[in-house]
Amino acid sequence: MTDNKWAKYRPATQAIRSGFSATNEQEHSEPIFATSSFIFDSAQQAADRFSYTEEGNIYSRFTNPTVQRFEQRLATLEGGESCVATASGMAAITALCMGLLSAGDHVLCSNGLFGTTKLLFTNILARFSINFDFVDLNDYSAWEAKVQKNTRFIYFETPTNPLTEMVDIQKLSDVVKAVNPNTLIAVDNCFCTPMLQLPLKHGADIVIHSATKYLDGQGRCIGGAIVGDKENIGEKVYSVLRTSGPCMSPFNAWVFLKGMETLDVRMKQSCFNAQVFADWLVQQSQVKKVFFPGLASHPQHHLLGVQQSLPGAIVSFELKGGKEAAWKLIDKTALFSITSNLGDTRSTITHPSTTTHGRWSEEDRQHVGIRQGLIRTSIGLEDVTDLIEDLHF
Ligand SMILES: *Cc1c(COP(=O)(O)O)cnc(C)c1O
Repeated sequence: MTDNKWAKYRPATQAIRSGFSATNEQEHSEPIFATSSFIFDSAQQAADRFSYTEEGNIYSRFTNPTVQRFEQRLATLEGGESCVATASGMAAITALCMGLLSAGDHVLCSNGLFGTTKLLFTNILARFSINFDFVDLNDYSAWEAKVQKNTRFIYFETPTNPLTEMVDIQKLSDVVKAVNPNTLIAVDNCFCTPMLQLPLKHGADIVIHSATKYLDGQGRCIGGAIVGDKENIGEKVYSVLRTSGPCMSPFNAWVFLKGMETLDVRMKQSCFNAQVFADWLVQQSQVKKVFFPGLASHPQHHLLGVQQSLPGAIVSFELKGGKEAAWKLIDKTALFSITSNLGDTRSTITHPSTTTHGRWSEEDRQHVGIRQGLIRTSIGLEDVTDLIEDLHF
């Protein structure tokens, strides 16, 4: 599915041009193919399409031209062979697991994960005799010790949600593959997007996206994707999509295609705003700690410019006054949207321990450092001075 013609171009160009091919109507912008099925010239052609002896559209659960354009564009950007689009980021993770895992398999994950991802693993997939283990993201010896013969893949985010912890993907990949060369490396690249980080270039095998976030960029649609090689993603995961049906709608694919065209400028400007915002936050006496890769005090700051080009736009901070101070600050904002979404042009503010990570046990939250005074912001494209003036401690 890789659109090789576009591989030679730089990301900003790929995000705008790749995956596009005009129909006979010669349109200049992607059309939305709002059709559930496609017609065949003959009974023979229908049979050939269904048996894959002829390539072409069949039914929009698994072949839709607008969705395919989105898949091609994201595969090009991530530098992957194949991409499968899904109804949501969570559907992408579920499809990945259903495509690659069988009962008795083992998956090793980092402790700091998107809240729902961890619940999917421990509360749902564990019921199907898949074994999940969790280790601290930067504890390389724990990863090394826990990789088993049946560890099908490892799964992590860098930077993590909400504490922006980063990990050296190549180093972790080397450590894991030295123990089991068959273990695949899966990275949730939602916080960076391919504009800031290309996990496949740093030893990863699979990239997961919640397109809901920066790929859309304006908080309109839910969607997700899995990028990787042809055998695992283009065939095994794709066949799960074809058969079980968590597909992306053509309308959403079109929104994401349009969103990706501005991804490069949006990422650059929101990272710039986030840096100004974080630099201001560290000077505030009510703030105990700021979590942001762009600060020299961040423990993995050295990975900036090496693995990840810009710091991202998620800024989390802990207030000295605990939950009471956090809720008070959130309730006093007028500009920030109180919502759990992120990656929007609009800046958002949330209290992780009672929202995104509210279903975790307090013990699990404390273990990764999600304290009651923690606030997560996703810095958008408003004037950053207005955002700073919106915070009243
Ligand atoms: C939002 C998010 C998801 C889940 O994506 P949905 O599109 O909401 O299903 C997964 N991982 C991360 C890091 C996210 O932020």
